[in-house]
Amino acid sequence: MVADVLVVEDEADIRRLIRLHLERDGFHCRTAGSGTEALRELAAVVPDLVVLDLMLPELDGLELCRRIRGDPRSAAVPIIMLTAKADEVDRVVGLELGADDYMAKPFSPKELVARVRAVLRRSQQREAPRVLRAGGITLDPFRHLVQVDGRPVTLTPKEFDLLQALLDAAGRVLSREHLLNRIWGYARADEIESRTVDVHIRRLRVKLGAAGGRIATLKGVGYRLEAE
Ligand code: CA
Repeated sequence: MVADVLVVEDEADIRRLIRLHLERDGFHCRTAGSGTEALRELAAVVPDLVVLDLMLPELDGLELCRRIRGDPRSAAVPIIMLTAKADEVDRVVGLELGADDYMAKPFSPKELVARVRAVLRRSQQREAPRVLRAGGITLDPFRHLVQVDGRPVTLTPKEFDLLQALLDAAGRVLSREHLLNRIWGYARADEIESRTVDVHIRRLRVKLGAAGGRIATLKGVGYRLEAE
């Protein structure tokens, strides 16, 4: 089945560039140059994924994101946000109604297409949770089991969720704010709440033994589980 991607971007050159790369990779692509145009496209046909620029005239990307999430027809549609500044990233991924992934401009169109593929794959697997693996760590969401090199490891529910989030995004950085939002449900994080993540990561590393070394700290940014 050919996936239908809606690209919402007011800059015509970028819009064309994204479309070109998506179509070259076999995706069906629709485009919208504004938030209101995007709403019309969404009302016509619900896409499989939305690539959404944060800075749009009239209706901005966050408001559009909220509307997509707020409509039962499109609530589960994955969204990849495009942001102009790196400091917007935390705002985007930390928001409760946030995006599934983001890319900071300037970005490589090839990388964006790879992200589109990855996000679509993840969203298709959401219904049937798969066993996650990286460097000797195995996590089975269905049976709620964690093993390191075949040995069972007992985790608290929060530690389990944290490891699942890290494995799910293996190789990518997850901000503390994103983790706080996803696992603890905080929309905004202050210093004390952010430390909660650090404490849980520390315990998780200890419980995982040598495999715990795969969880890398990116100072001031967040955490990443090193993929194979
Ligand atoms: Ca823009």
